[in-house]
Amino acid sequence: MNIPFSIFTPMHNEIKADMQACFERVYDKSWFIDGEECRQFEKEFAEYCEAEYCVGCGNGLEGLYLLLRAFDISDGDEVIVPSNTFIATALAVSYTGATPVFVEPELKTYNINPCEIEKAITKRTKAIIAVHLYGQCADMDPILEIAKKYDLKVIEDAAQSHGATYKGKKAGSLGDAAAFSFYPGKNLGCLGDGGCITTNDRTLAERAKAIGNYGSDQKYHHIYKGINSRLDELQAGFLRIKLRELDRWTKERQRISQRYLNEIKNPKIILPSVDEKNTHVWHIFPILAEKRKNLKSYLQENGIGTVIHYPIAIHLQEAYQDLGYEQGDFPKAEKIAKEELSLPLYYGMKEEEIDYIIKTINQF
Ligand SMILES: *Cc1c(COP(=O)(O)O)cnc(C)c1O
Repeated sequence: MNIPFSIFTPMHNEIKADMQACFERVYDKSWFIDGEECRQFEKEFAEYCEAEYCVGCGNGLEGLYLLLRAFDISDGDEVIVPSNTFIATALAVSYTGATPVFVEPELKTYNINPCEIEKAITKRTKAIIAVHLYGQCADMDPILEIAKKYDLKVIEDAAQSHGATYKGKKAGSLGDAAAFSFYPGKNLGCLGDGGCITTNDRTLAERAKAIGNYGSDQKYHHIYKGINSRLDELQAGFLRIKLRELDRWTKERQRISQRYLNEIKNPKIILPSVDEKNTHVWHIFPILAEKRKNLKSYLQENGIGTVIHYPIAIHLQEAYQDLGYEQGDFPKAEKIAKEELSLPLYYGMKEEEIDYIIKTINQF
């Protein structure tokens, strides 16, 4: 059997006619950026996230950057981020001129450990980025409490967690603002790059929108030194179609993940766990294995594709050498980087493929 890590075709085959009609509609209208499709998508996605406002932008990284800029974070400021996230979380901070300050995750959920945040706070700290990693929300209540105590902003990096909930509330509605990515491989992905921010703060939404539109609130009237980061009409239209199917597709990811959780039984493997406060949307199904290298090649030999998310913790990346961190500074993040392996997980996996993956892993 040959099972890739991920494919889009089963999803995309179901909506092909609608996607083609969307292309025709936008093509015939000849309005390609910041138009009706974008306005409608923003409205629909805000509603989906139970947030007041949504503003489309170029991608997830820029969504985070626009929020940091909208909060006036710049040179000399510090922003707390988990040490085990995709590098975009830290890069968004660096782009503003501020410094990312890394904090250890919890090994139970792989999300930032709220108990480790306080000791990373200094006079320069302005915000915390809570990443909802792999599709499960960070423990937001204690994070929000610390933020209140020190007057910090809380930004959700929800790039991996469209539709996830924490205590019954949606990702994207839990902090001061959130950024989403619509990169094709995310749970809600467009056919290129795309992203957005969500918030309940109208002024913030307007600032983020202006900063992503060359810093202008009216045409040729520039109030900030902004950038160009917008969601185009085609992608917004495609996203509207996919958003209607998202919960159904997510349920299938949850069903497959539940089978993995119930049926993978191998002492050499640690399965992920879901905090009872959360519903997990399983962007990734992450396992830990001390013998990851052997496991990965064993699965490869048996036709099963896997990916590592992520092989090097950010504080040890070459790009962040200047911050002076060393091996051993974040043992939990380093352990995850050394042992994490993501199993195949996508809408359209066949029952016999799931059976085969479970059986093959149990025989490792
Ligand atoms: C994908 C991702 C991003 C960046 O999104 P892009 O659209 O690729 O820029 C940011 N944070 C996390 C956690 C991600 O997984």
